[in-house]
Amino acid sequence: MTFYDLDFLEKTFIHYAKENTRSWPEKHDQIPSSPGQVKMGKELTKQLQEIGLEAYFNEQTAFAIGKLPSNVDDTVTPIGFFSHIDTADYNAVDIQPQVHRNYDGGRVTLDEKAGLYLDPQEFPALKSCTGETLITSNGHTLLGVDDKAGITGILGMLKYLTAHPEIEHGSIFVGFGPDEEIGFGGQRFDPKDFPNVELAYTLENGRPGDFEYETFNASIAKVHIQGTAVHPGEAYGLMVNATTLMNDFLSQLPADEVPEKSKGHDGYFMVTSANSLVDHADLEIIIRDFDWDKFTAKEQFLKDLTAKLNQKYGDHRFTLNLRRQYLNIYNVIKDQPYVVNLALDAYQRLGIKPSIQTFRGGTDGNFITQKGIPTPNLFNGGGNYHGPFEYVTVEQIDKLVEVLTTICQEHLRQTREGRDNSPLKKYW
Ligand SMILES: [Zn+2]
Repeated sequence: MTFYDLDFLEKTFIHYAKENTRSWPEKHDQIPSSPGQVKMGKELTKQLQEIGLEAYFNEQTAFAIGKLPSNVDDTVTPIGFFSHIDTADYNAVDIQPQVHRNYDGGRVTLDEKAGLYLDPQEFPALKSCTGETLITSNGHTLLGVDDKAGITGILGMLKYLTAHPEIEHGSIFVGFGPDEEIGFGGQRFDPKDFPNVELAYTLENGRPGDFEYETFNASIAKVHIQGTAVHPGEAYGLMVNATTLMNDFLSQLPADEVPEKSKGHDGYFMVTSANSLVDHADLEIIIRDFDWDKFTAKEQFLKDLTAKLNQKYGDHRFTLNLRRQYLNIYNVIKDQPYVVNLALDAYQRLGIKPSIQTFRGGTDGNFITQKGIPTPNLFNGGGNYHGPFEYVTVEQIDKLVEVLTTICQEHLRQTREGRDNSPLKKYW
């Protein structure tokens, strides 16, 4: 059973999927990093206005912002939804979406001549799309499901609500942001664009039922090591080789707390770069952990190691610069369970089995949560994100429309009848 207009969802998704909105990491100091994002942001703004929202494009942040005003007399705190305009760092030139109607569950030909196929033997999750309208790329570019499926879902919800004025809801804010894939979208979001919004959701990957409110806490450590370069012929007792000092530092990092030995709820240290000469060396190490105490213990470990090696070698040869990148959404949400319960209640109302995951990364929601709006992550449908095998089905986007609409209705109902503030369950 479909919820909304599948034809609208298919056309809208394909229209935006074709636009090259790849973000450019090397231009991250520009807002946004690539011109395609401005074009699409302004186009979305226009579409929001056509649907009937108060909408504008924030030139400072490159967010397209829309507000669908409340249609009830009750005082309902506004709710927000986010999805991002940019696509991942993969070829996005000349994207040609392919529509496979009534998908038969078998191997999908992307480009016969080039021998490119999407095969359920390799990607078993595809099987669950049987009978649906499957959309893929032609195998030479990504498709942009992440996050144009999310954008399409939000537009579908807004179209649905404006077409059905009898459905009551409070104010709804939507934000389509830039540069999520390079970590700058949520960071640049201006909460003044979402006045009084108390809770929000991102629509970042995953399938109907997926839900994430736990992400990493993240820091980056830069270690500068000062050596003393002397001509090797006269080096006795004088040379201090920065490479030797660097190796000493590296050898004392916990050997088992690395990404390749971590899963589920484990955290890690990862050396992302190591450059050394005799004269000086530089290390870059990222720290990731879900658990706040373990996270801060990892930061402390690097501080202690730096102090210990400074004592060993003297002359303050090691300088540590530690910077927090983003913090776990859970740190905030554990004290504000309503935003989680509301989504789970909506899933329950629709008979969707929730699948709660820890997200081994960060999202725009990390930054937005830190700015005062708790923002966990729902889903956008599809799979194989960020590469040539990305796919989505129109039916999954339709499910997203239904979930978003139900969250808005449920929020009004619970405003009237009492909020579900039951404490969060631990899922790990
Ligand atoms: Zn994304």
